Amino acid sequence: MLGKVLRIKKILKDKGQPAPNCIVFSSHEEHLWGKIPGLLESVKNDCLPQAYATIVMSQHLGANHVDGGVRIRVSKNFLELAGKNVLDNRPAWRVNASAIDAGADSALLISDHTLFSGNSRGSSCIAVEIKAKCGFIPSSEYISKENSIKKQVTRYKMHQHLKFHLGEISKTSEYDPLDLFSGSKERIHMAIKSFFSTPQNNFRIFVDGSLVFGGMGGGADSVHPNETENCLEDLSKVTGLQLSDFIELLSEAIFKSGVLGKLLATQKLDDHDIEGAIHLYYNIISQPCLVCKSITDTELLRKYSTLHSLPLDKSEKIVRDFLISATAKDCSLMISFRPRQSGTTDSEYDSVFLDSVNQSYDYKAYFIDLDVKPLDKMVHYFKLDQKIVNFYSRNGEVGGDPRDPLKGGGPSGDTKVQLQH
Ligand SMILES: [Zn+2]
Repeated sequence: MLGKVLRIKKILKDKGQPAPNCIVFSSHEEHLWGKIPGLLESVKNDCLPQAYATIVMSQHLGANHVDGGVRIRVSKNFLELAGKNVLDNRPAWRVNASAIDAGADSALLISDHTLFSGNSRGSSCIAVEIKAKCGFIPSSEYISKENSIKKQVTRYKMHQHLKFHLGEISKTSEYDPLDLFSGSKERIHMAIKSFFSTPQNNFRIFVDGSLVFGGMGGGADSVHPNETENCLEDLSKVTGLQLSDFIELLSEAIFKSGVLGKLLATQKLDDHDIEGAIHLYYNIISQPCLVCKSITDTELLRKYSTLHSLPLDKSEKIVRDFLISATAKDCSLMISFRPRQSGTTDSEYDSVFLDSVNQSYDYKAYFIDLDVKPLDKMVHYFKLDQKIVNFYSRNGEVGGDPRDPLKGGGPSGDTKVQLQH
């Protein structure tokens, strides 16, 4: 069981509410996803997350990079013992809120991607978790003129400025998703370097299953610069790798594996942008479109009315693709490494050779957090998009990007906020 995690069903202690991991489809969602064999049954059997990952997402991301886990039978006695054993490791507020459902008859056995299963003795496993976010700039014809900035600046960058303004982060990230997804080794290198200066919640490193670099989640940028140095010292102590070696190892694996190409293609299933897809959402729920209601631009309204005249199955296909893309924009990639013992020729894993330390490393790459996005989140996606773009258009469009001399200079709200800070 080394390198495995058991996911057990929970129930809320306050019986008035449904269990936190219990997902029920609305009737519109049943129609939307019902054409994909196996999905509706999985909802009844309480294993939608597993089914969505293995049936839907793995089709796009590659079955060898998606691990839905294995459902195994468990006894009541086992679950009660497991509940007692984990009691001390759970925060008090969680213990009070929910408990293991000892009445469940199965649990999900999944891989712990911070480890290799059956790790060979003496060699440590380094795992990197990357939340890459959206790796392309949209070009949909349904993006309104006021929002045309979306066709030039990444969503990630615009969102950073809003988060900074709201005080959610103390510094905007230096990470540019377009570098990571570029397919160019030098630019991948640059992206990884930027993770070390501003990891936020985009980057974490685990050694033998323990977090050694990056935040625990919650606070988006909980890593202090001094802490960074300590972490990196620890990292090199445990792995014997200098920072530059480590960046080289990771870039090489990302470049060689091609996993980000698959992720990008999946993200690009969103070809209408939320400004197009939102209208099809109203087709699906057969309600008057609240977005068209407030638009006065006649040319734009004409475009949207063609969307409203699409048949239901077309509307569903576009929204389904949008939701699959939304999962792909929000998921994380785990890449795990372990030194390959010399003489090994029949490893089940791919490998990269690191010149600087004259060592081969086995690696594996898996996508995690592949849960289905609820259909009624479409309205939230639309509102958030407007909020991010409006803020950036008003405050950030002339803001100097330190790496881009062409766009630099000029007064900008962006600079002002930083001075105040
Ligand atoms: Zn509309």
